[in-house]
Amino acid sequence: MFVRFWGTRGSIATPGEDTIRYGGNTSCIEVQSESGTLILIDCGTGVRRLGDRLMAEGRRPLRGHLLISHTHWDHIQGLPFFTPLFVPGNEWDIYAPQGFEASLEDTLAGQMQYTYFPITLGDLGATIRYHEIVEGSFRVGDIRVTAQYLNHPALTLGYRLEADGTAVVYACDHEPHSRALAGGDGDIDGNDRRHAEFLASADLVIHDAQYTAAEYEGKKGWGHSTAEYAAEVARSAGVHRLALTHHDPRRDDDAVDRIVAAIRQRVTDSGSAMEVFGAAEGQVVELHAAPDRHLQLLTGEVAAAPPQASALFERTVVVGVADPQLAATLREAIAADRIHAIVETDGEGVLARVLEAPASLVILQEDLPGMDGPAVCRAIRSRAAKEEDDLPIIVVANRERKAAAGDADGVSDWLVKPFSTAYLRTRARSWLLRTACRWEKAPLPPDEEKRLAALHKLAILDTPPEERFDRLTRLAAAIFDVPTALVSLVDRDRQWFKAGYGDLPRETPREESFCAHAVVNRAPLVVPDAMDDDRFADNPTVTGEPRVRFYAGQPLILPDGACVGTVCLVDTRPRELDERQKGLLADLGELVRRELLLPKA
Ligand SMILES: [Zn+2]
Ligand SMILES: [Zn+2]
Repeated sequence: MFVRFWGTRGSIATPGEDTIRYGGNTSCIEVQSESGTLILIDCGTGVRRLGDRLMAEGRRPLRGHLLISHTHWDHIQGLPFFTPLFVPGNEWDIYAPQGFEASLEDTLAGQMQYTYFPITLGDLGATIRYHEIVEGSFRVGDIRVTAQYLNHPALTLGYRLEADGTAVVYACDHEPHSRALAGGDGDIDGNDRRHAEFLASADLVIHDAQYTAAEYEGKKGWGHSTAEYAAEVARSAGVHRLALTHHDPRRDDDAVDRIVAAIRQRVTDSGSAMEVFGAAEGQVVELHAAPDRHLQLLTGEVAAAPPQASALFERTVVVGVADPQLAATLREAIAADRIHAIVETDGEGVLARVLEAPASLVILQEDLPGMDGPAVCRAIRSRAAKEEDDLPIIVVANRERKAAAGDADGVSDWLVKPFSTAYLRTRARSWLLRTACRWEKAPLPPDEEKRLAALHKLAILDTPPEERFDRLTRLAAAIFDVPTALVSLVDRDRQWFKAGYGDLPRETPREESFCAHAVVNRAPLVVPDAMDDDRFADNPTVTGEPRVRFYAGQPLILPDGACVGTVCLVDTRPRELDERQKGLLADLGELVRRELLLPKA
């Protein structure tokens, strides 16, 4: 991958004679894969010159993707000046975190209302598609993108991009989950550990480093990292190169130099070979896969897709708080999201509520009278039903505590006073979004590696369509009167369609795949109504295009026992399959299986 920095400044553009070397433009990064997939991350003022460069190159039509971490000004202010968005024929996909209130399009249109700007979002000539996303993975061309929430007063996503055997991670704006880590010392645990795993063995991490440890005392809760924390979390994650960015506007070039020098010294003293530099406007970093290195791919448990709006409302949050002032703050933060809050003033009350009816989130005061927050948490974890293992529990603490102690109690997240209502609201939202957008991903079969070897040996993946398969899916669609019939092969992280009757992409992510369930069970799978099935109701192929309601898949098992995929039927209407039809589907499966085993013509 090729990475170029177009904006490295935090908060506000800071041009001037003392910011010439690192640059004064706000956040913007360009990433291109070897095959030319173009992704921009964030759209601060730096994007204007990038737009000019792209226009001068004359690629028409221009196809690009824009990942927005969050919609704070310094990350979107360049958007109205990004010329490629004005050119008819160009196509852009814009991705940003799904919020609870305004849509992404409305949020971006806000800064272009005529009070602020002469041209509206609607006047942009390019075809623009807006995607509101949550945590998880998706594909953009040949780049696999994984999004994960950061810790910031606005809902913010970090992005990990993997392609060509390399990985780059962008993590701005982000504050240590545990403030005790701001100095760069201490055990990385809990949600900070999760953050480190997100960076794991990346070739390049571009990390928020707005403050230094010495400055942090006065900046708690502002949503930014210290350079020391960025270095420590990256070092512990086995990162190869670390770019410190989101430079504070008060920082001149010499001040950035001093921070970089101090961090380099720190990293060297720790015995690490990680390379550290201050991200500078115009700087290019080329990433090449090391031949002997196996990149540790992230396996997200959820994939990013617009969750159903309804999944985010009508949720119940159980609050256990004795302090009336804290209760009022919590109510205010949660009520804004049209979520039911049930307030209990003691631990027994919370426990009874949670065990009696399902909750989406629990927020507890650490020093609840009687049974304290961690004790309630332990009790919930030991008594709740299996499906509540994932129930997020936030404990509000008066002071920083060791994250490790929290882990033993089963606390999902610690929120340490003082914090703003916005911070609390964002934390609660990110936990709700995480759980709202979860569907069941098929587990990996026990013989996965053998299965993949058998599939690859068929040498059929990524081959052109063939009439002998197309004929069978055409027949299947006609026999069962469904709009879509497919020969689907389940590869390591995708399902690829050898043949498909209907208007479809050539492949989709494995984590969204129905067929992967049939493959692991090695048995026919019939889903009469996906909306009514907990395994699939939140699946992005159900909640979004192509709006799957009915699915029936017949596994394709080779003579050596490897189950490589299915022949399957898909409909946008719920329906049933009777015994005779199940028999016919099995017959079709046999015909497809025979074709798979035939030597290629
Ligand atoms: Zn920022
Ligand atoms: Zn921000």
